[in-house]
Amino acid sequence: MNICTVPEAREQVLSAVRPRPARKESLASALGCVLAADLHTALSLPGWDNSAVDGYAVRAADVSSAGENNAIHLRIAGEIPAGKPASVSIEPQTCARIFTGAPIPTGADAVVMQEQTRLHTEGYVAVLEAVDSGENIRRAGEDVTAGALALAAGTLLGPAQIGLAAALGAVELSVHPRPRVGVLVTGAELVEPGRPLQAGQIYDSNSFALAGYVRQAGCEPVELGIADDTKEDLQEKIDYALSECDAVITVGGVSVGAYDLVKDVLAELGCEQKFWKVAMRPGKPFVLATRGEKVAFGLPGNPVSAAVTFLILVRPALLKMRGLNDVELPVADAETAEEFVNRGERTLYVRARREWIGGKCRVRPLPHQGSHVLSSIANADCLVEVPEAIRIAPGTKVRALLIP
Ligand code: AMP
Ligand code: MG
Repeated sequence: MNICTVPEAREQVLSAVRPRPARKESLASALGCVLAADLHTALSLPGWDNSAVDGYAVRAADVSSAGENNAIHLRIAGEIPAGKPASVSIEPQTCARIFTGAPIPTGADAVVMQEQTRLHTEGYVAVLEAVDSGENIRRAGEDVTAGALALAAGTLLGPAQIGLAAALGAVELSVHPRPRVGVLVTGAELVEPGRPLQAGQIYDSNSFALAGYVRQAGCEPVELGIADDTKEDLQEKIDYALSECDAVITVGGVSVGAYDLVKDVLAELGCEQKFWKVAMRPGKPFVLATRGEKVAFGLPGNPVSAAVTFLILVRPALLKMRGLNDVELPVADAETAEEFVNRGERTLYVRARREWIGGKCRVRPLPHQGSHVLSSIANADCLVEVPEAIRIAPGTKVRALLIP
């Protein structure tokens, strides 16, 4: 099979996945999910006209001439705390003590702030400032009107959106549930941190990094451990992953070496290979395969290649599975601080760092760009995409893809 360009690979990856079917979730567990259906409200917010301040509900006409040197005295007909219906009605020359959020009594058309009054003799208040009709009143429905669309399908439910749903009395929301994404690292050389290393062994870093990227993408990582470079072990673990998870990320074993068995195992498990190899650096060996609705992403094992292929190819698919429309990495406009060169024939993703000098954002490539150099990604805050066979001069405007 031919090598794909990055746009071709992205198109394939995105067309292999769909938003997860909608499900009801409690408000608390809907946080971070995407709303699957429009939320119309039966309630208005506010539900009724209420006071924006602590003070006195008045008839504005009664206090139109009030001032510092012209106190208007009103009889206090009652008190209206929040949480109770208004039990008084306001006749001319009277008022009601009222508190923030309490309903406006009939007859009143404004509220004078407590700070603009002085208590007079028992049962009377002196108003020291005029108010306009409607002042300090929060009108019924001015936030959300009954019957209106409160939250549209496709909305990402953050704390504010969950709070709005709660204010409208929602108990559950119809959402696209978070995809469960299996992470399986492969390699006979890998050892879990915490155990002693024998000669030739290294600590598995990709499990931790990939589980973190998956979680940052709003999905639930399912850690599947380390698979040996044998068909038996890979088959058992990938099969389990495909049955238990919505998507599977394998790391390592997708290149051309004798122990690179992931592609064969995927085929033996009944997966359809969509493509293998992408014209990008790092990250050329990358395989996409599907089995029914399930999708397997086979990432290369070098930690930087795994991270970059995740960010460029896997993350957009996971965001689409969550029901999001915007699946791109956030970008920042910047100027190159140094030359960025790509002598190769593949799209290069340079690990870079932004710096701000005199209010200008500049990006500087990190010195060691090898795909095994973990510090190049650990110290980077962005990737700069450099098309094949090109030299970008210092001072050129570029878009930095921000690493979440
Ligand atoms: P592979 O893609 O399996 O050929 O692996 C390429 C390189 O990445 C090798 O040097 C591996 O030892 C290394 N590697 C593979 N998987 C991991 C991992 N989970 N953690 C750290 N390094 C890894
Ligand atoms: Mg390997």
